[in-house]
Amino acid sequence: MTGTGLLLQGGTVYDGLGGPGRVADVAVAGGRVVGVGGDPPAGLRPIDCDGLAVAPGFVDTHAHSDLVHLLDQPQPFKLLQGVTTEVAGNCGLTFAPLDAASAEVAATLWSSLAGGVPIEPAGFGELADRLDRAGPANNLALLVGHGTLRLTANGLDERLRPGAAARMAALAAEAFQAGAVGLSSGLIYVPGSYADTGELVALARVAAAYGATYATHMRNEGVHLEAALEEAVTIARSAGARLQVSHCKAAGRAAHGTAGRLLERLAEARLEGVDAQGDQYPYDAGATVLSSLLPPGVAAGGTAVMRARLRDPDARAALRAQAERGGVADGGWTLAEPGDVLLTGHRDPGVPGRTLAEVAAGRDPWDTLCALVVDDPAATIVIRLMREDDMRAIMASPLVGVGSDNGPPGGLEHPRTWGCFPRLLGHYVRELGVLTWEQAIRKATWLGARQFRLDGRGLLVEGAVADLCVFDPATVGHDGTYLEPDRPVTGIEHVVLAGGLAVEHGRFTGLRAGRVLRGGGAAATPAR
Ligand SMILES: [Zn+2]
Repeated sequence: MTGTGLLLQGGTVYDGLGGPGRVADVAVAGGRVVGVGGDPPAGLRPIDCDGLAVAPGFVDTHAHSDLVHLLDQPQPFKLLQGVTTEVAGNCGLTFAPLDAASAEVAATLWSSLAGGVPIEPAGFGELADRLDRAGPANNLALLVGHGTLRLTANGLDERLRPGAAARMAALAAEAFQAGAVGLSSGLIYVPGSYADTGELVALARVAAAYGATYATHMRNEGVHLEAALEEAVTIARSAGARLQVSHCKAAGRAAHGTAGRLLERLAEARLEGVDAQGDQYPYDAGATVLSSLLPPGVAAGGTAVMRARLRDPDARAALRAQAERGGVADGGWTLAEPGDVLLTGHRDPGVPGRTLAEVAAGRDPWDTLCALVVDDPAATIVIRLMREDDMRAIMASPLVGVGSDNGPPGGLEHPRTWGCFPRLLGHYVRELGVLTWEQAIRKATWLGARQFRLDGRGLLVEGAVADLCVFDPATVGHDGTYLEPDRPVTGIEHVVLAGGLAVEHGRFTGLRAGRVLRGGGAAATPAR
């Protein structure tokens, strides 16, 4: 697969650690970088990189590509952005471990993340093995989701049943032994939102015991951002785990201008000994499920009960009163105006591509929201939440890396799915100068690789794994929009994966050299 080896000639080489670019040849053989500058071994296939940047392959620290790589056709949508490793299983939502009952619920709640792949019962190791065998287009490092652990151990009950906490811990340990690199939580999503801090500390302790990271979509990213971040830091500190704050933002009008506080707290946490950092996608809108605009309690007891609640005028009015309070457990209704909520996925084909205000068409938007969720509890949205100055402040922080937060590559997914990394480089480095090339490359590579302990990756030095991205600084970019998100990227010239050319002159070569990268917990497992 790695063939004769490659000699990337004459490019400007970035080490991923933040060092400045320097012109050098990069020699690749046997799946490793065997030389940067100096005399290369003979017989390597030369690739002209004159005028191009040569960087470590990008590490997407916040992916939702858990199942799409099981599709028959290869899925190179990240590879074409220069991404060689995705950290999948974020926001507490993973597709293992699932038993028959939890798989059925997951299929109702999270099908929008599955990309058409059937959601079936599977142990964590079983799913990791299936992904490995499928030959993903890029490497995958997998998190185990707290929401999934809770669903399997406790159904959709708000309170933990006797024995459920121990069951979650045992399932988590199994996942780390099978190579999960972290525990993720999604504290705005049912059933993750039902957890108290203590429940999360207990599971983060299991993660820490296996050297794994705690990655969290916090309970609130708006006006209660500080309290939510405090909880995240508390969990990491109490458990002794590294902390990854997912998709850092100051969300919703009332929170605009508070990004600086988030960054200060991240730095303070580091001073307190918590290995805390975050990730971000370079857009002013997020994407999520439509039901996240409702108070999370709406789903207690399952989707049938939720539908009944949403159809009942009294229950609906009570939910509205709660949603309008906009508190930490009241859902996302107050974050954006109905005109800033774009429906991107819904069972009714007439709905996607219109805003909630447009679908309401003069009727009450709250009632419209409830009716849309009754028709399709898994409906998805793109929601304009962030202000540009907050975004740029977060982007400029050396503690915040890059995570696309992609969905499956089809339909009206958020453009970050196809263009996150090229957009960062083209728009925010070349056009706006928010970051230098070496700063942006460090954030897109080594920063994430170190937090999830992806040893040998995310840096370009002799001996590193030969996962590389060669791009043209003059043309790199992505002009996808919310209504036309899947436009092709520009300027990602070559991508090397495990020493082989997976993208050549911007085209996928068909190489499926990706594999599941197992965390340190797997090595600690006794041989079976
Ligand atoms: Zn999330």
